[in-house]
Amino acid sequence: MRRITIKALLSEAQAGQEVLVKGWVRLHRSSKAAHFIMLNDGSCVNNLQVVVDPNKVAVELLKSFTTGACVSIKGIVVDSPAAGQKYEVQATELELIGACDETYPIQAKAHSMEFLREVAHLRPRTNTFGAIFRIRHNMAMAIHTFFHERGFVYFHTPLITASDCEGAGQMFQVTTKNLYKLEKDENGNIKYDDDFFGKQASLTVSGQLEGELAATALGAIYTFGPTFRAENSNTPRHLAEFWMIEPEVAFNDIKDNMDLAEDFIKYCVRWALEKCADDVNFLCQKVDNELVDRLKFVLEHDFIRLPYTEGIKILEEAVAAGHKFEFPVFWGCDLASEHERYLVEQHFKCPVILTDYPKEIKAFYMKQNEDGKTVRAMDVLFPKIGEIIGGSEREESYDKLMQRITELNIPMKDMWWYLDTRKFGTCPHSGFGLGFERLMLFVTGMANIRDVIPFPRTPRNAEF
Ligand code: ATP
Ligand code: MN
Repeated sequence: MRRITIKALLSEAQAGQEVLVKGWVRLHRSSKAAHFIMLNDGSCVNNLQVVVDPNKVAVELLKSFTTGACVSIKGIVVDSPAAGQKYEVQATELELIGACDETYPIQAKAHSMEFLREVAHLRPRTNTFGAIFRIRHNMAMAIHTFFHERGFVYFHTPLITASDCEGAGQMFQVTTKNLYKLEKDENGNIKYDDDFFGKQASLTVSGQLEGELAATALGAIYTFGPTFRAENSNTPRHLAEFWMIEPEVAFNDIKDNMDLAEDFIKYCVRWALEKCADDVNFLCQKVDNELVDRLKFVLEHDFIRLPYTEGIKILEEAVAAGHKFEFPVFWGCDLASEHERYLVEQHFKCPVILTDYPKEIKAFYMKQNEDGKTVRAMDVLFPKIGEIIGGSEREESYDKLMQRITELNIPMKDMWWYLDTRKFGTCPHSGFGLGFERLMLFVTGMANIRDVIPFPRTPRNAEF
């Protein structure tokens, strides 16, 4: 007999049908007349209730059906008298596949997120993390579908890079050198010419620069892959290894870029609401009661679009009116998460796209505005998250780009290939980066980024 998943059973089976299910016991309780086994196989958030008549099975076998045990059950589907579930199964045959003793860390009780991080190898077996990782899969599918339907090419950019001028964050070095016997030259610099790549190499902080090469050939591309930042920021929104989606489109200006970003996020949020309803509703009940309302709100409202300068004015007015921020607000400051969230949550009560930032706090490749002070950057700011997307129209003029590179003293010897896009048939183009885990925080309502990626990498933590 073929196994049926619990998801299929609960949605497609018929009362009276004989079924074979396999999964892990979440809870086993008993009364005199019957044993109740809550079984989960990961196919959906719902458990299947299996009712066992203790007179029909060996006592020892039934005893081995402990929380965490992997079991196989044959039985008959019947309408369930219990609220909240359509069917249950009356067991006819039980089999223990893998026993689980009482040292199993995930017993049937409430566990803190902190504790579950310590057993991240087992936490996918909880309802909460099952829901999160099914949603994570769905968000990946949504992203590929969104771009594929619009004719974007999924372009693979390298994870190992020898250019470190992007400046998005501290980089992890990649080397095969023996660190115990590091040779240095007469100036005390490490010699890299005999290293694996013949030069200093690192893990990428962004695929954007290579993405621009592709966009100026294929028209519209996106990347979707891991990126690495060795920034020592221990926050609920930063990981050392995270996934990023970076579309890049030839001929798009900043307005097109904002439209694309807004459409894209809304598409993903709609996908979560429509195709992950069970999991999202579960998290709404369990983790964050306002989750569904917040997701719907984003779908129903146009994002506010506002220049940085106006945003600073609003924040300065808030300070004047007595609002306390930890970090100072002034024209030219890099916005902290508290500032971003003030604009979104308190002032506009709506997602905000902030544009035209001071050039000093943004990357060298962003298109310079006529005012000589700002660049055509755009950050999408979200409730609970702060920055979820960072992007810009790119500087397409070779001379202006070179001028900025010189001003900033960026070492260009490894960047000749990037400049070639501006030399050979340059064109206006724009793009942005969406942090996949920031999107995941938003659609799951989880509070900590460590809980929306299976195995988080953060300072002093690379377990599992
Ligand atoms: P932040 O100011 O929040 O540190 P950033 O400005 O350094 O972010 P970008 O370089 O613009 O980030 O990267 C694009 C997107 O990648 C961000 O909008 C965010 O969604 C995500 N992101 C950046 N750094 C991290 C990180 N360390 N962990 C998870 N996501 C990140
Ligand atoms: Mn940014």
